[in-house]
Amino acid sequence: NADQAMYGAKGKGKNSYQYYTHEMQTAAIKRITLLNDLRYAVKNKELFIEYQPICNFDSKKVVKAEALLRWQHPEKGRIPPDEFIPLAEESGLIIEISNWVFDEVCRNIKHWKSRFCSELQISINTSPSQYFNAESNITEWLNLLLDRGISARSILLEVTENLLMEANDMVSKKLFEFRQAGVDIALDDFGTGFSSISYLKKFPTDYIKIDKSFVKSMTDVSNDKVLCEAIIVLAKKLGISVVAEGVETQEQYDILKRMGCDYAQGYLIARPLSEADFESFLIAH
Ligand code: C2E
Ligand code: MG
Ligand code: MG
Ligand code: MG
Repeated sequence: NADQAMYGAKGKGKNSYQYYTHEMQTAAIKRITLLNDLRYAVKNKELFIEYQPICNFDSKKVVKAEALLRWQHPEKGRIPPDEFIPLAEESGLIIEISNWVFDEVCRNIKHWKSRFCSELQISINTSPSQYFNAESNITEWLNLLLDRGISARSILLEVTENLLMEANDMVSKKLFEFRQAGVDIALDDFGTGFSSISYLKKFPTDYIKIDKSFVKSMTDVSNDKVLCEAIIVLAKKLGISVVAEGVETQEQYDILKRMGCDYAQGYLIARPLSEADFESFLIAH
């Protein structure tokens, strides 16, 4: 309780305490305001999705892309997902938002597959609460795909270690249901957590996404180069495909290709693109 703390601190270091509470208050107000704004963002059509192409090292073809959520705030401009997604997760809003993302991706995928690229697969990021929260209907997504005549192969779900760390039987049941239906599962930001490797034997995994921090330092910190290579070798032995995230330079691309990495995602191939620009990209390629 900030008032009490300030009152109690009066006799001691009043000024330093006030400064501390003031900072905390400002941060709290900022959060609450942003959360309130986010509640209306879906309704006001302030959210949209960008699609980042993912390229196959062998064929050089782009038949995959990642759906990345964006928020164009009417006054504050673009709010990065790393800022608003944690808010959405803590507040439970993420369930509604994720269902909206899924609907959007389905609508586009149907159109793009029939017109431009029949093999197209779009990956969707998922949050742990979608698997735990009773209100979440994530396994309903399978029925929705069926209803809309979209093959399960067209969707890839990205999960993070945060999910697998807390995972119980219900979570693995849901992941297995998806996998059995033909939806691919990718382990995102691989290598940044504590026990990534142990998850590979416990959970169904079709893809590993090597975190961009490894790719970034691959060319200067020699250990990271060794780690990248080790991850790729391990994945191959387990029959898992590897996507490298954050590929920005030709040098990184060449090294990863030599290492036997399967897919590249990053600014070198393309930035995350608006719906219209991604469509043009598909047409051009
Ligand atoms: P992520 O899933 O690891 O997505 C990859 C991030 O790397 C994206 O950041 C992308 O814009 C960025 N990126 C791609 N290529 C490069 C590159 O060459 N260099 C650098 N420096 N960065 C690159 P973004 O779009 O800011 O998204 C941040 C995170 O927000 C995502 O990380 C994901 O965890 C989360 N996120 C995005 N959309 C959704 C969503 O619909 N649902 C959920 N639950 N999370 C989402
Ligand atoms: Mg991702
Ligand atoms: Mg990632
Ligand atoms: Mg990330």
